[in-house]
Amino acid sequence: MRCARVSATGLGWLPEALDGLRDRDLLRVLTYCQGAPDPEVEIDGVPHLLLASNNYLGLANDPAVVAAAHAALDAYGVGAGASRLVTGSLDLHRRLEERIAALKHCEDAMVFPTGFQANVGTIPALVGRGDIVFSDELNHASLIDGCRLSGAEVVRYAHADADALEAALLERANWRMTDAPIGASPPRRLIVTDTVFSMDGDLAPLPAIVELAERHGCMVMVDEAHATGVLGPTGAGALEHFGLEGRVPVVMGTLSKALGAQGGYVAGDRDLCDYLRTRDRGFVFTTALAPAAAGAAMASLDIVRDQPERRARLHALVARLVGGARDLGYTVLPTDSAVVGVLIGEAADALAVGASLRA
Ligand SMILES: *Cc1c(COP(=O)(O)O)cnc(C)c1O
Repeated sequence: MRCARVSATGLGWLPEALDGLRDRDLLRVLTYCQGAPDPEVEIDGVPHLLLASNNYLGLANDPAVVAAAHAALDAYGVGAGASRLVTGSLDLHRRLEERIAALKHCEDAMVFPTGFQANVGTIPALVGRGDIVFSDELNHASLIDGCRLSGAEVVRYAHADADALEAALLERANWRMTDAPIGASPPRRLIVTDTVFSMDGDLAPLPAIVELAERHGCMVMVDEAHATGVLGPTGAGALEHFGLEGRVPVVMGTLSKALGAQGGYVAGDRDLCDYLRTRDRGFVFTTALAPAAAGAAMASLDIVRDQPERRARLHALVARLVGGARDLGYTVLPTDSAVVGVLIGEAADALAVGASLRA
């Protein structure tokens, strides 16, 4: 069946906008993989080596993880059927949340259908108009959008620069009761950062950030999307890597990357989670995480705990890739994670290199 072409007015700007993106080599098109995100994947019937997924530990198609997803499907069906606050909360979700809390050494945790949603829902639950967010300039889009949605003032500080953060904190530290309307409470202040940055693969200066937050009485929220399962002795993430567990009040992450499943989470104190379960719009106004994804994530967490050799192998492969690409003359950014940045140059050049790699 052919869809009717919409001749409606109002979309007249669209062809020009598309051309503009095309002209600047910014128009993205989708590549369809024919199968699971394994090391080798077929695209248009041709086998390709897959170096671009976030399936860092090979868990997305691991037999034990797939079996756990099947078992959850059999027990709970395909969809949870409702949002968490209605009838969508399953005992499976609760067990998963307890596992995440244990991994993160936090009192409690809550899961979301995606990490993106966790961020855009949680930041506006923590701060609002009149409050201030200090945000690393290279934070993930979902953190940026969460900050915008909150209505708080957003102060962007130079990437991974604790001195710049401190200067920003000092500049905004002069809020005085005497200047405020009677009954006003001081603004809430929140520092938000990726722990592993999703484009460059570098680490935030977390020890300095946590120290600054404690000194200035600010909240801190970290996004462990690319660190969970990858960093730290037990794979708990960058906070574990730095020995900072228990010192960051809001710990967000995703089940969708190294854990190979789908979904997001926030871990923290029980009070925080009790509050967010009522006030976090990314949690309240959406259907609960699909049972199969929750079951899969549980099995992945078992593997992360029981098979540290997968992490060791990942880091060995990263070192080999970085060394090999440098030997070939590429400019490879230093990395602490499984994200390896190779600097090519302009967008058109990067697309050309991508095309030649695929060929
Ligand atoms: C991927 C990513 C997210 C979003 O997580 P999803 O579960 O894929 O929605 C959030 N933050 C960062 C830093 C990410 O890299």
